[in-house]
Order: sequence, then structure tokens, then C-alpha cells
Amino acid sequence: MAYQALYRKYRPKNFAEVIGQDHITKTLSNQIKNNQISHAYLFCGTRGTGKTSIAKIFAKAVNCEKSVDGSPCNKCDICKNLSNASNFNVQEIDAASNNGVEYVRELRENVKYTPVGCKYKVYIVDEVHMLSESAFNALLKTLEEPPAYAIFILATTEPHKIPETILSRCMRCDFKLVEIPALESLLKKIFADSKITCDSIAINLLAKLGEGSVRDTLSLADMCAAFSNNAITYETVIQCSGTTDKSTLHELALSVVQKNSKKILEIIHDFSKAGKIISKLNKDLVEYLRDVIVIQTSENYMKILVYPENIIDGMVKISKIATPSNIIHLLQKLSSLEQEFRFTTNQRALFEITLLSLLEESSLESRVSALEEKLKTMVLP
Ligand SMILES: [Zn+2]
Repeated sequence: MAYQALYRKYRPKNFAEVIGQDHITKTLSNQIKNNQISHAYLFCGTRGTGKTSIAKIFAKAVNCEKSVDGSPCNKCDICKNLSNASNFNVQEIDAASNNGVEYVRELRENVKYTPVGCKYKVYIVDEVHMLSESAFNALLKTLEEPPAYAIFILATTEPHKIPETILSRCMRCDFKLVEIPALESLLKKIFADSKITCDSIAINLLAKLGEGSVRDTLSLADMCAAFSNNAITYETVIQCSGTTDKSTLHELALSVVQKNSKKILEIIHDFSKAGKIISKLNKDLVEYLRDVIVIQTSENYMKILVYPENIIDGMVKISKIATPSNIIHLLQKLSSLEQEFRFTTNQRALFEITLLSLLEESSLESRVSALEEKLKTMVLP
């Protein structure tokens, strides 16, 4: 059998299987149970948070005659028919590639036909913010007087681009980024089911790198599983994700707090030579230093930070060399670089200059404070 990506294989089939969006699944299933569904919904949220999955579950749930707790039974003929991607009653439209008014006119024609073999016809319009102005106007006419059997689910990653006239016709559902613990338990379940081994530290890293998106998390997991022959380790995830390995970050952070400009330039040189992106190194360094602050300020850091022991030891070492205010100052400068990187053609030079000027600043500061100390002990005439 052809290999099926984890994201597809483990796509949720009912509301209970959706993770991290309880506020939405509960509302929708209650609407179905109480027979109070709307005719237009706006699903807003970043990619991979479950907008399309929930839309498809909803399309089945409103039609299923044996729905369980507002969710589709997935066993009846209606559910089975609606699972078929080419089913007439559930139409998925990608507004990114069909954004013109003629396309919406076609849709309006289509809406005139009643559903076949079930109660509702559901139109899922992905990336709806991409529609042209005239297309939005045409869509609005349909939304103003939808036939009783039609339901529109408009999905978008950029709700601010949707005209107010459309927004006011829709019930808005804001999807949240999925939290790390929820992604971790999903990964554990999927790995156990798929006979993939992966320790908890690697699972935590996968969940963090997914940045709240189920799809991104599972795509990375897929790649790691293939790369490691189903035996994923922390190192596998580092290699597959292109994330900066913590030993480079440790060396760089250490050189900064020890004011070793030669070493800083060497590390950046090696990093660039390997064809890696400097803005990514900066982002990862910011995260590393943030973890150092956690060590400096929280006694419970072992519970908060999930890393192999040698990585924590490196962070502890840095936390003892630099003061929290040193690290905060570094973080302020490096975080503001993220913006500046967008406007420069030479990220490497900008990064080097910033780090070296930080060393200058700190050596000037320490000279001034040494002078101040000296002055205190001198008796002035
Ligand atoms: Zn059913």
C-alpha cells in the first residue's frame, strides 16, 4: 500500500479527535444537537490548526442521521458518501487559485441545486481573503439570502482582509495555536500506533518546532521517521529540521558573554559556510538566551526546560558568567534584529556588527563601573 503521510492518516474523523480547539468543536456540536446551525461561518487561524478538518467533520455532522453527541457517526451511508472527496454535497473551493468574480458566479449557480441524498450542501472556501472585491460582492449576495440547505464555511489565515459586510454575515470561530502538551500527546499516540520509537525529549522538540500547527508538527515527524528508520532521536530532529544545534548556540553564547570576538567571528563563519541562514541562527540564539534567563530566575528550571542534560549544563555555565541584566540587554538587541534582517541584503554583516558592538558596549560599561568604584575610594581635594 502506498505510504500515507501522518497528517492525512491521522486526520480527525469526529469532533472529539480534534486537538486544541475545544472552544470551537463544543460550540459547533452543541449547535448541531440543538438544531441551531448558522448558514455562514468564518474560520480564522494560522495554517495547520484544523480549519479544514473541522469544516469537513461539520459537513458530515449536519447531515448524519445517527450523529453521536453532535459528531458524525462515520458509519452510515451519508457519512460514507460525504467522505468521498468528489461528493456533490461538500464542495471545497480554493480562493487562492479561483479568486475572480466569474468563479463566484459559478458558485452562485451551483447553490441553486438542492443537495442529493442528504439535507445540507456545504461550501468550504479556503483562503477566502484572496477573493477580489467584485468576487466578495457576488458572494455577499448569496450570503444575504442563502437557501435553507446551503452552509458556507469561509476559512482564512488573514481575517483582517475580509470586508466588514461579509464578516457581519458570518459566525466567526477563531482557531488557536495548538499548545505544546497537546501536540506532545498527539505525537505519543501516533508514534505508538505507527510503531515509531521517539524519546520524550525528541517529542518535546518536535512539538516546539511545529509552532502550534498540527500539520507542520506531523510533517516534520514524518520526515524524521523516514530519515531515522522509525527510531527518532533528539539529534534526528535537529538534523531534519535544520534547527541550529545547541552546541553551536552554546559556543556562540559563551563567546559573547566571555567577550571573545575572534571566536564569535569563527562560529559565524563556519555557520555561513555550511549554507545556513543567519536570521535563523539569531532566532535560535534568542531562544537559547531566553532559556538561560529561565535558569537565572527560576528554581524550577529543570521542570520548565526539556533538554538533554549536557545542554542544560551548558546553559547553567552561561547563567553563572553573565548577570540577568546582561542577558536581557542581549535579548533586546538580538530580538530587534529580527525586524532589521528583512531590510538588509547582508544578514551576516549585520549580525556580526551587532554582536561585536555589544561587546564594545559591555567593555565600556565595565570600564565605567570600574572607574566609579575607584572614584569612591579616592579622596578628592
Ligand atoms: Zn453518519
